[in-house]
Formats: sequence, structure tokens, C-alpha cells
Amino acid sequence: MSESSATGQQSKAEAKPRKFQAIKGVRDLLPAETPLWNHVEETAHAVFGTFGFSEIRLPIFEPTELFARAVGGETDIVSKEMYTFEDRDESMISLRPEATASVCRAYIEHNMQQLPQPVKLYYMGPMFRRERPQKGRYRQFYQIGAEVLGGNDAPGIDAEVIDMVMTFFDKLELQGLELDINSIGCRECRPKYVEVLRAALMKVKVQLGADSQRRIETNPLRVLDSKLESEQEVIATLPRMAAHLCAECAEHFAEVKRQLELRGVIYRENWRLVRGLDYYMRTTFEITAQGLGSQNAVCGGGRYDGLVELLGGPPTKGIGFAIGEDRLILSLQESGKAPAPPGRDIYIAWMGEKAFATAIRAAKDLRAAGYRVELPATEQKFGKALGQADKLGSRYALVLGEDEVSSGEWTLKTLADGSQKKYTESELLEYLRDTNVGGQQRT
Ligand code: ATP
Ligand code: MG
Repeated sequence: MSESSATGQQSKAEAKPRKFQAIKGVRDLLPAETPLWNHVEETAHAVFGTFGFSEIRLPIFEPTELFARAVGGETDIVSKEMYTFEDRDESMISLRPEATASVCRAYIEHNMQQLPQPVKLYYMGPMFRRERPQKGRYRQFYQIGAEVLGGNDAPGIDAEVIDMVMTFFDKLELQGLELDINSIGCRECRPKYVEVLRAALMKVKVQLGADSQRRIETNPLRVLDSKLESEQEVIATLPRMAAHLCAECAEHFAEVKRQLELRGVIYRENWRLVRGLDYYMRTTFEITAQGLGSQNAVCGGGRYDGLVELLGGPPTKGIGFAIGEDRLILSLQESGKAPAPPGRDIYIAWMGEKAFATAIRAAKDLRAAGYRVELPATEQKFGKALGQADKLGSRYALVLGEDEVSSGEWTLKTLADGSQKKYTESELLEYLRDTNVGGQQRT
């Protein structure tokens, strides 16, 4: 459209610019919340570091084919939830719905099998799924996850990975945690069980809802996942994986449980726990927390020994988990664990051009020492400045007027009680250090 026709068509109503809103299911994280997000992420870096994990940063989009192959074309995620588009060169690209596929792709691409095994990685960042938005379910959401790739499939690795998530949650003081575990068998025993399950489901088909009826064909294991009230009674009568595990899987699962007990990790065995993604095998687990309503799963994970090979890499063992960071944060907020957003340490109330020069220097020195300083850009009456300092949650106001500048003695006012005292600049820094102002921010 040429410029003239664009303006020519513009009506009066259109002259007012459109007011934009974030896309449905996608949200801003505002300053009142970001301190908690940062606290959670810093805790993840610290705790995962103590377990010998290193961070990997992955792209937000990948070839669609990577997810189709890794996550599985039959899954809800790939069949209806991915944001997929055609790039300008006609290749198909998707926003990542999860990150395990990318970690495996990176492991292969960077020949990480040549590093000491296993390779222990963690990541954090946004994921994208076109689901129905509700509390704890968004279209852009955040995950913190970890993967152990390579080496062997010793049950001790499964237990250590689970122990690490629980340690992280404990450190955050997440409330009402419940850890469910299950074994969903391997390539040998699972397909046999799936057939047994399918046959049993066929017999009770009429008692199931439409979704479950469809899943008898596409993915019978997912029927066990059903939350539909009317199906619960009949599901309870279905054959269970535990009775169909091969000897190796049964032994592996028993040992994972023993090792969890050794570590003092409390779990509940849940035979109906299956994972939504195709690539899982043997150990699967899910952790729920309180205050989240029906979206109460904060972490899902499990073993996926065949995945790297499926993506064209060498045979590689793998296990990992993904934490839903949005839900984790919701749960912390519900239980009142959210830290107050930081205010200011010092608000500089200056008056007069000469005082402004001193205020600029004072702000520079105080900031260099690590304090959160508000330096108003224009002159204010002291009364107004103090009101503003209060609104910003400042602990102190540093009053700089003609007198202070000429005497070199600055007035520090404590806003909580209105008391004030004079200090030279070096005395002031010493006083602030001794009273540990901004102590948490500065290291
Ligand atoms: P759910 O059963 O709640 O749909 P899921 O099995 O699809 O979860 P995973 O793919 O295992 O979830 O992802 C791991 C974690 O990521 C979940 O336990 C949850 O905390 C979080 N998560 C998944 N989808 C969303 C979403 N749309 N919005 C917010 N968090 C999500
Ligand atoms: Mg889901």
C-alpha cells in the first residue's frame, strides 16, 4: 500500500492508535514479581551447581522435525500445541514446547559423548504450547530442567536426580510437596504391557469417555492419566505395569526406591503415573505442590535411554526433569514466601544547583559501594522529596542543601522514625556499612 492511499483511507476512528495487549496466554512479569523469579533462578544455579551440573543455554526455536521425532507426533504437544511456522526458505520451524529434545540435539551436535560421562546439564527459559490458558497454564511458560546424558543407567543416577530436585524445592521452602514415582518399563516389556492394557480397555470401552476411547488406539497409557470422575472406578481395575515389568526393569525400579530411602527422600508409588511424552522409559516421576488447584504438578521427569539414538546419536542413557517455574512461583506466593520487592536504600533530596553537583558525586560513590540510590533529576521542595522517598520505600533520605554543601556535613534522615544526624561523606559510608544497609544486595 502506498503512503498516500494509506492516509487517504484513514477515518477519524482509526486516527487513534491501537492499544496493544499481550497475546492471550502470554504475560508480563512485573517488578513486583521479578525478585522472586530471580531468587528461584539463583537458587537453581546454586543447588544444581553443588550437584555438579553445568548450565546450557539453548535456542528458543528448532526445526519442527526435532520435536516431531523426539516428543512424538502422536502427542498432544506436537499434534496440536506447537507454534509452528514456515521460515523464508520454506523450512519448518517450531517454538520449543520443551527442552529435552534440544539438550539431546546439542549433546550430539557438540560431540559431548567425548567428554567425561555422564554429562550433567541444566537449563532455564521460556517454552511455548498453545493450550487453554488458566491458572498455572500459559502459552508462554518457563521451565527449569536438568538432564544427565551418557554413562550408565545405574539406579543411583535416578535417585540423585530426584534428590537434587527435592533439595532445590526444600531450599525454596516449597510447601506440601508430594513425590510420585513409577516405572513404565523398557522397549522389551512396555509394548507387551501396552497390548495387555489395550485388550483390557477394549473390554470396558463403553464405560469410558470419548477421549479415553480414542486413546485406546493412539496411546492407551494416557488413559491411566485420566482425571475424569466417571472413569476412576473402572481404571482402578485395569492391569498394572508393575506386574508386567521384565526382570531387569523390576530390579532397576526396586533399587531406585531403595536408594531414595537411603537418601531420606520420601516418595509415593503411583502405578497410574505415565508421562505425556513418548520418549520416557523406566523411572518416571512427578512432584506436586500446594496452592495450585488442578494444575498442581510442578515437576515431571524420567528416564529416556533411547532418545539420543532416536535423534541420530550414539546409544546413550538419559534421565532428566522439567520444573514448571510459573507454578513453582505461584505456590511460593500462595504460601506467603514471596520476598518484598526492593525499595531504595537512599533517596537524595537536594536543593540548589551547587547541591546538585554534590548530589551527583554522592550518588556515584554510594552506587559504587553497592547501595540502591534514587537521584531525582529535578529540584524538589524537601517536603515533596521526603514524600517521594517514602513512596519508593527508601530507608534513608540524604538531605543536601546549601548548608550541607558548604559545611561538608551531610544530613541523613531515617525515614522510619524521622530521626536525623550529620555525617561527612566518609563517616556516612562507614555508618552505612556498619548498619549493614543493602547488605543482602551487596556481596
Ligand atoms: P500437565 O499435566 O500439567 O499438562 P505436562 O505433563 O504437560 O503437565 P511436562 O511436559 O512434563 O508437563 O512439563 C513439566 C512441567 O512444566 C509441568 O509439571 C508443569 O509444571 C509445567 N508446565 C507444562 N505445561 C505448562 C503450561 N502450559 N503452563 C505452565 N506450566 C506448564
Ligand atoms: Mg500438558
